[in-house]
Amino acid sequence: MENLNGKVAVVTGASRGIGRGIAVELARCGASIIINYKNSEEEAQKTLDIIKCLGGYAIKVKADISNYGQAKLLIDTAVETFGKIDILVNNAGISSVGLFMDMREAEWNEMIDINFKGVLNCSHSALKYMVSQRSGNIINISSIWGNSGASCEVIYSAAKGAVNLFTKSLAKEMAPSGIRVNAVAPGVIDTEMNSWLSSEEKKQLEEEIPMGKFGGVQDIGRAVVFLASKESQYITGQVLTIDGGMI
Ligand code: NAP
Repeated sequence: MENLNGKVAVVTGASRGIGRGIAVELARCGASIIINYKNSEEEAQKTLDIIKCLGGYAIKVKADISNYGQAKLLIDTAVETFGKIDILVNNAGISSVGLFMDMREAEWNEMIDINFKGVLNCSHSALKYMVSQRSGNIINISSIWGNSGASCEVIYSAAKGAVNLFTKSLAKEMAPSGIRVNAVAPGVIDTEMNSWLSSEEKKQLEEEIPMGKFGGVQDIGRAVVFLASKESQYITGQVLTIDGGMI
């Protein structure tokens, strides 16, 4: 198992789903965790309880990462509490399904503000500390649709594609400062984000996946642990696709 003892990790959107999976796996390897959430306080507490059961350290911090001031406060709170920030996982995100032509401006603004601008807000705030430490690790959770594009998820795909290129560009800019930046692009993972699918639609989707099933949150959590650890010390600017062979 990778050793993250003494490391401090902020995980955005860690109240449930993939974010919780990432927070738990990082904690299992010894990292102290800042669990960020926006609305689901009880769920965030559940993540915290799981980490405590594992013998780990965590706090929960409410912040809307699409707001620069709140994102900055989240990162500042992490540093005030634990003295530093080693790992930032930009996981918080939303999705919606529908034709681009039917979308209103407010809807695509929200999609871009959370899925792309939120990544910028948290990264910008964390880099201030990471640059002076001359070390740090940023891991962005994008999507396979950010690699290939998806009909009926046009703005979601565009925002995730922007996250992928932000990852590659920032990695080049930050490598001389000892900071690595990578992304994980999940395929279909079994979380609330896909709860709108009927059981028939789920079955059809599973048939399109060569491995024949949705991924679990632990599959993403384990990959994030690898990217956050010394095991991946020469890897930066990469987008790691985890999709059971779907794309
Ligand atoms: P989820 O179950 O819907 O959870 C979303 C999380 O994001 C929640 O913890 C939510 O917090 C948080 N969040 C949303 N808006 C926020 C904001 N403005 N500020 C702070 N936190 C916010 O989604 P998921 O499936 O775990 O997805 C996590 C990430 O993986 C997303 O970026 C998503 O695009 C990506 N992804 C998911 C899949 C999939 O199949 N599930 C596939 C590819 C990529 P609250 O509940 O507290 O509001």
